[in-house]
Amino acid sequence: MKYLPDIYKKNIFDINYNKLKKKDIKCLIFDLDNTLALIDSNRAEDNVKKLITDLKKSFIVVIVSNSPKRRVSSFGKALEVDYYPFALKPNIRTLKKIKSKYNLESCDIAIIGDQFITDMGYGHKGKITKIFVDPLAVKDLKITNINRYLEGKIMSKYSKNNLFKKGKYYG
Ligand SMILES: [Mg+2]
Repeated sequence: MKYLPDIYKKNIFDINYNKLKKKDIKCLIFDLDNTLALIDSNRAEDNVKKLITDLKKSFIVVIVSNSPKRRVSSFGKALEVDYYPFALKPNIRTLKKIKSKYNLESCDIAIIGDQFITDMGYGHKGKITKIFVDPLAVKDLKITNINRYLEGKIMSKYSKNNLFKKGKYYG
């Protein structure tokens, strides 16, 4: 079950980070678009800033995004975290960099994102904990449309097998 999330929550605020800490997760990789911020927003909301500031006390926090450098760097700088733009997820070249930079194993890391193909695919390839959240908005980047189409097909397959249902949160 390549894309099946280990944990599924409505948004980044609903994730039980204490539980992740107890599971010895040391590094949280956040997707940017529709996970941390709306695609047409250029700044981190105050509640996101507050959450990331808190999380940095317990975890290494990084942003890995397929978006261009200009956009990703502005969030990375505002949130004062490491950031990897143009990541080409599900390609895991950025994960390899993160593991060597922070001396981490796969079992130390979780990815948090709103897409099956890119984010959960990245988690599967990298054998890290996969945390899925609902997209912040229905509106996606155009390039995402094909992935959403494929995601819909995968979701309905999982749903037929009672593995995953949109809005039925777990973990
Ligand atoms: Mg996203």
